[in-house]
Amino acid sequence: MVSMTRAFQIPQERKLVTELPGPRSLALQERRVASVSRGAGTLANIYMERGDGAILVDVDGNQLIDMGSGIGVTTIGHAHPAVAAAAAEQAARLTHTLFTVTPYENYVRVAEKLAERTPGDFEKHSILVNSGAEAVENAVKIARKFTGRRGIAALNHAFHGRTNLTMTMTYRPWPERVGMGPLAGDIYSLPTSYPYRDPDGMTGEEAAERTIDYINTHIGASELAALFVEPVQGDGGIIIPAPGYFARLSEFCAENGIVFVADEIQAGMARTGAWYSIEHHGVVPDLVTSAKGLAGGFPLAAVTGRAEIMDSVQPGGIGGTFGGNPVSTAAALAVLDVIESEDLIGEAKRVERTLRARIGDWPERFGVVGDVRGIGAMWGIEIVQPGTKKQNPEALKNVIRHATSNGVIVLDAGSWDSVLRLLPSVVVSDELIDDAASVIEEALAAQS
Ligand SMILES: *Cc1c(COP(=O)(O)O)cnc(C)c1O
Repeated sequence: MVSMTRAFQIPQERKLVTELPGPRSLALQERRVASVSRGAGTLANIYMERGDGAILVDVDGNQLIDMGSGIGVTTIGHAHPAVAAAAAEQAARLTHTLFTVTPYENYVRVAEKLAERTPGDFEKHSILVNSGAEAVENAVKIARKFTGRRGIAALNHAFHGRTNLTMTMTYRPWPERVGMGPLAGDIYSLPTSYPYRDPDGMTGEEAAERTIDYINTHIGASELAALFVEPVQGDGGIIIPAPGYFARLSEFCAENGIVFVADEIQAGMARTGAWYSIEHHGVVPDLVTSAKGLAGGFPLAAVTGRAEIMDSVQPGGIGGTFGGNPVSTAAALAVLDVIESEDLIGEAKRVERTLRARIGDWPERFGVVGDVRGIGAMWGIEIVQPGTKKQNPEALKNVIRHATSNGVIVLDAGSWDSVLRLLPSVVVSDELIDDAASVIEEALAAQS
């Protein structure tokens, strides 16, 4: 079944005309090494020039399948004409006033839309900022101000960002924070639900009791201002907690005056076949963070939630110079329209069906594949040593090298760097999924 929702300028097919990286990429890489910090590491040194839908075109004219979307950002596809037009039109009219000096309508409209789209039938207010980490930081500040408490809990394998506060909330030490402390205080990491690695048959409720027991025995519920969860852990390795896990945790938070925050920066905005991925668990969070897919690549992030929590901060206590920029908000309004007019939530469900059918049997077919899991256009393939559940980062590296050098951009993930992560645009065609899967299969066969 072909499901193309818009006409593309660039044919949606993989086409290689040089080796990867090609000569122009290699030349740019030399200049980059001489001018850019090594700390901004890259997965594949292939320099891109254009994009359309799920295809990226590099500086040498190669067409690559983008199964990463710049880590889940271009969910609606590269270079959507409606987003390009909205941003260009806005850029020609007004690029900045600073909302907190003299406001403008785009910001208000994005806040109105977020109030409609985020879960929960109550009055909601938003703050707009520039990056995911900034949204998480602000959610921490707001929850602390509202509760008068300091403690912040996140889950094992979480990723919440790279600023000082958010790198502390991020689970793994390497590479996000090693050598860059001191870390922020009053941050705790809790055992989570990780069905592939939990004891067989452990239910979501049992995993939640383990999490709650940890809070009670290590922290004390009355110390906690907020609990942050990613309904689908992205960088952690596409970990989807067992059914019932979040329902029990949110109930515990409500009983104990803890603000329940869904970090939807990676999984939100239609990617999982719902506006927000926490909807799959029937849970209504107090606060929600949005970012990656929100503005089609323009920097924009948000905290949205219960008005009484969001309004507990004094005017001037949150915000920033560029937050909710006129161009980024114009782009976001176009993205939100496109998600509806092109039924991209339906498209995410199609991608899920196609991927499940195409790659769901990899654990039976390849010794290095321990688990395949996913929802919508968000999938993880856990790479292990054959016959065990022991993580296999070496094999993953080889798989990624093979994929990228054959024109398929894929991502790594996981606390042990052993999960192959696929975050394609939801407009990726079934044919592209099939082609990308074939390339990955060659590498899996060579590793098994
Ligand atoms: C990417 C991400 C962040 C951080 O966003 P930045 O824009 O990179 O600061 C926070 N939380 C989650 C779940 C993310 O995926």
